[in-house]
Amino acid sequence: MRIGRFDVRIFSDGVFRLDGGAMFGIVPKVLWEKQKPADDRNRIAMDMNCLLIRDADHVVLVETGAGPKLNARQKEIYGIEDPPRLLDELRSLGVRADEVTLVVNTHLHFDHSGGNTYREGERIVPTFPRASYVFQRLEWEDALNANERTRGSYIADDYAPLEAAGRLELVDESVEILNGIRLDRIQGHTRGTQTVRVSDRGETLFFSSDFMPDRHHLPLPWIPAFDLFPLDTLAAKKTILPRAVEERWTVAFTHDRPRFGRITDVEGKLRFDELPG
Ligand SMILES: [Zn+2]
Repeated sequence: MRIGRFDVRIFSDGVFRLDGGAMFGIVPKVLWEKQKPADDRNRIAMDMNCLLIRDADHVVLVETGAGPKLNARQKEIYGIEDPPRLLDELRSLGVRADEVTLVVNTHLHFDHSGGNTYREGERIVPTFPRASYVFQRLEWEDALNANERTRGSYIADDYAPLEAAGRLELVDESVEILNGIRLDRIQGHTRGTQTVRVSDRGETLFFSSDFMPDRHHLPLPWIPAFDLFPLDTLAAKKTILPRAVEERWTVAFTHDRPRFGRITDVEGKLRFDELPG
């Protein structure tokens, strides 16, 4: 996919599984299971998508999947059966770990940040040794101070060691981290979740973050029970979705099939059509 001067790829680090009821909030199972069938433990399977954004001078990776540090029990709970694909996918696109210049996580839940680091003997070290890792400051603070409600989603080894390694770059609110790549804090899923927008020569690509994890969450009331601020998610959807339709953004989701698509409004109902390729 080309967005102006940028080459943008999307791929999945692998599949994981979460409780379907939690993913769809107040939506009754009779409705959501038509979109996403549940397994015998009521879990639905989802990809963990990563974006690779390149121009002549920069190699930007957005999200790093669940990574290589989960133990057998965690893998069993989340139904992760295969080893992480991140590094193989990058290799097949011609990218070595030490060529990545920026790593962005939309937020620090383990399914987005697990591949940030790996275990080398006793130490936890950055997977991308020359990259700056860019997170929202509020997300960083909340991840380091998880509470009873949020603790299950954060694993400090995925992000805390980046500070001592000198690879951490915290941002506030809305920033253009590179000419044409914007990060915007959208409170909803967490306080410090950020979306990614890539724009050049009149084209825009929008990467949703988890406030809208897949195409099934386009209808306004379909909001995950995981979201800490569901009414803020609702407000953000009301602002962002009409723009995505109006300005014909290319859209990609964090937990959908790893595809690009476009959102259109068909008689008041939003629909997502995959773009070819
Ligand atoms: Zn997620």
